[in-house]
Amino acid sequence: MNEKIATLKKWIDESDNIVFFGGAGVSTESGIPDFRSVDGLYNQKYDYPPETILSHTFFMRKTDEFYRFYQDKLMIDNVLPNKAHLKLAELEREGKLKAVITQNIDGLHQAAGSKEVMELHGSIQRNYCMKCGKFFDFKYMKESNGVPHCDECSGVIKPDVVLYEEGLDEVTIEKSVNYIRNADVLIIGGTSLAVYPAAGLIDYYRGNKLVLINLSSTPKDGMADLCIEGKIGEVLSQI
Ligand code: NAD
Ligand code: ZN
Repeated sequence: MNEKIATLKKWIDESDNIVFFGGAGVSTESGIPDFRSVDGLYNQKYDYPPETILSHTFFMRKTDEFYRFYQDKLMIDNVLPNKAHLKLAELEREGKLKAVITQNIDGLHQAAGSKEVMELHGSIQRNYCMKCGKFFDFKYMKESNGVPHCDECSGVIKPDVVLYEEGLDEVTIEKSVNYIRNADVLIIGGTSLAVYPAAGLIDYYRGNKLVLINLSSTPKDGMADLCIEGKIGEVLSQI
């Protein structure tokens, strides 16, 4: 075990108030591509850039094209939680970790057994009819061809995910800020910290054990008390 991982282990062993803040990099070891890595979605070719397709305006104007991308690239099924998700769930069961705050929409933290999960950007598991509000699960969406429609009123179904130009849920933000503000150890992992306002939440941390675990450098590396370059599943499984 290298020195940095030994320090992380010590901080985790000594704390019962750990908070985790993560992003798409947490799920790449499960086989879901992130956005900004070399094989991430931003480096694949589409008619429009992903942030255009995943915007509110695009969803309203070109719903069929939105769903072609969304079903193909984001609604990936048969994926399993990896060692990072499992370790975080274990730390919560042991009473050491208070919450997972995630930018991911894949539901893998819950699948791993985590209970207190703040989904800043919503979830592909929840979807609703824009006309009557009826809820639909992942399976219904996956089995729909083209644009999914409500089986009661035939309204268009929208995923309960936060698209570009849309605001974040206020209650989720408030709870996340509270967890971060009161955390003893804040572990940030698998995120480029490029998406706002989510990335700004970590500025509420007031402690002196800020850990950053990422494959590549981020704009906040200088802020970290411990910066570990590596795959998060591999790092956390050594704890
Ligand atoms: P991002 O794609 O901008 O950045 C991912 C970061 O994780 C990169 O810095 C990369 O180097 C790092 N990384 C990749 N694999 C890693 C690993 N195994 N271990 C450690 N680090 C790893 O992702 P982001 O910061 O979360 O922002 C992208 C937005 O896209 C988010 O809002 C999120 O909602 C959405 N998104 C979600 C999913 C998902 O739900 N799984 C997938 C793609 C994008
Ligand atoms: Zn309906």
